[in-house]
Amino acid sequence: MELVWLNPKVVRVAMAGEGCRDMRWLVRSVRIEPDSGEEVAAVEEEVFDAVVVANGHYSQPRLPSIPGMEKWRRRQLHSHSYRVPDTFRDEVVVLIGCGDSAMDIALDLCGVAKAVNLTAKSVEQAMTPAMSKMLANHAELHLNPQIDFLCEDGTVQFADGTRVIADAVIYCTGYTYSFPFLDTGGLVTVQDNRVGPLFEHTFPPALAPSLSFVGVQMKTFVPWFFEAQGIWIARVLSGRSALPPADEMLRAAEEYCRAREAAGVPAKYTHDIGGVNPNETYEFVAKYTDLPPREEWKRELVRAILRDITEDRENFRDLDNDSESVREGVQRWLCLPDATVPGDVASSQVCMPFQAPSQL
Ligand SMILES: Cc1cc2nc3c(=O)[nH]c(=O)nc-3n(C[C@H](O)[C@H](O)[C@H](O)COP(=O)(O)OP(=O)(O)OC[C@H]3O[C@@H](n4cnc5c(N)ncnc54)[C@H](O)[C@@H]3O)c2cc1C
Repeated sequence: MELVWLNPKVVRVAMAGEGCRDMRWLVRSVRIEPDSGEEVAAVEEEVFDAVVVANGHYSQPRLPSIPGMEKWRRRQLHSHSYRVPDTFRDEVVVLIGCGDSAMDIALDLCGVAKAVNLTAKSVEQAMTPAMSKMLANHAELHLNPQIDFLCEDGTVQFADGTRVIADAVIYCTGYTYSFPFLDTGGLVTVQDNRVGPLFEHTFPPALAPSLSFVGVQMKTFVPWFFEAQGIWIARVLSGRSALPPADEMLRAAEEYCRAREAAGVPAKYTHDIGGVNPNETYEFVAKYTDLPPREEWKRELVRAILRDITEDRENFRDLDNDSESVREGVQRWLCLPDATVPGDVASSQVCMPFQAPSQL
């Protein structure tokens, strides 16, 4: 642990010195008090051989542009600031968006708020079996087309001409990548929510290997996949693996984006690897690490969860429909010496003798 420095806030990362050869990084940081976030020590500067950026991408709200939102006088917030339903008791709430955050918050508000209005760009696409069940189960829940405009008096006008008077609008519109501390002289940019250019979503060709990114990918298996990404970066930095030449990495990064565009994937989903092609995750781990392949029962479990969540969002956790191989896999996992599971689950399982896999 003496190598780990806890609670510094990094305020600037920039190339130290000139040129890309023998690149080093100047890191400026302040020590903060973890609970309050207050700065408790002065600015420090240090030079490092390499920087791995792993600052997450679920904290900087992405807001849409809706006519009237700047004049709206009632409550407006992003899903990032949502905590509990109680403060919306008996209110009419409009949720902008229809993704995971919107649906989770909508269900949380049902039974507390007076009316909960989800909005979707395409009502047809949003009407999954899970959505139909949610609407059937909750009379106060409604699905609307997207908003045309908001009025100062609280009116929310939807694209089909219907309107509600709302007390609160919650923007469940996702997040944007943000690296406010990072100065790469324009060699890494964020455009339309695409961080680029990045070879394998990890190394910027012109600055590799001394600069790398962990966790840019979306909809993947956390923490397994990010651990694999870290292993690859460590191997490259320690000289145990080599990267292709910079021009090859750049070409590969550009081709990747072109292929996605040709397949009709918008730029903002560039890093959505699990949702577009789950196999990309497994291929990455096999190519760049020596971690054992993901066991088939875990792959099956993920497929089953994704299937169940679109069938019945409210109850998918309780469905008792696991296949035999998933049941056996979970049983083996529960018997691993370091498996941490809730007491009631653990005590209800009987451990059978088995050969434990070396790695989860
Ligand atoms: C509502 C919600 C629900 C989710 N549910 C699930 C789920 O059920 N299962 C799942 O697998 N994933 C889920 N995710 C995704 C999961 O949270 C992320 O994939 C995961 O947290 C990413 O880990 P990370 O370490 O890359 O980033 P983070 O967990 O965001 O960690 C980044 C860290 O960097 C720190 N940091 C940022 N800037 C600086 C700076 N300048 N200086 C110093 N430190 C800095 C932050 O304080 C933070 O501690 C969910 C996400 C959201 C928003």
